Amino acid sequence: MSGSVLVVSAHAADFVWRAAGAIALRTRCGDRVRIVCLSYGERGESQEIWKQPAMTVERVKQIRREEAEEAAAALGAEIAFFDCGDYPIEPGESTIPRLVAEFRELQPETVLAHSPHDPYNPDHPAAHELTMRSRVYAQAAGYPAPGRQLGAPPVFYFEPHQPEQCRFNPQVLLDITSVFDAKMKAIEAIRTQKHMWDYYADLARRRGVQAVRNSGNKEIKYAEAYERAYPQVASDLS
Ligand SMILES: [Zn+2]
Repeated sequence: MSGSVLVVSAHAADFVWRAAGAIALRTRCGDRVRIVCLSYGERGESQEIWKQPAMTVERVKQIRREEAEEAAAALGAEIAFFDCGDYPIEPGESTIPRLVAEFRELQPETVLAHSPHDPYNPDHPAAHELTMRSRVYAQAAGYPAPGRQLGAPPVFYFEPHQPEQCRFNPQVLLDITSVFDAKMKAIEAIRTQKHMWDYYADLARRRGVQAVRNSGNKEIKYAEAYERAYPQVASDLS
């Protein structure tokens, strides 16, 4: 039986910059990866679209949705949109129950989430909080949601845009060399944020250099950084 991964993205393209490599690695192994976008980022992360004449919020959301769907398809992942709004993300009464249902239905072995701090964008910590709460509730026998109780899948925080200010600690450097082509395809699907393309290609290259330095594996060209939310459980320290 193949595995599964749940990715919770505050806005329509966060998963692309920060976790596309991890997603592609898992889908290429035949695993199921499901991305939940809590909002389209229509107010806070769609500056370029708003420069077009006679733009409406509904049109911005549609464009962002189409781009995110194209990126997810390039990675071989499923994608769902909760449309909670942004600036601020405003979860409704059904948001947490829906997220709990996602956890229980998918039973992910791995969870990818935003990190807890981001002084540049309050939606990212809000998405973190919603993800972590829903994971814990999905574990609780008494929580009234359909499906099996969740086990204890590890949570990896993907890298925020300004890692130092977000107190992000890159504990894990994931070799994404073999899927970098797919990551670039996903990045280039986000045509409304072209200013991010080079930045994230360069970041992957830089994290790749650090991965070589920390492993001795000179074959690594590109990497993504992650931080663990919970201790790693191991049976040896190799
Ligand atoms: Zn975002």
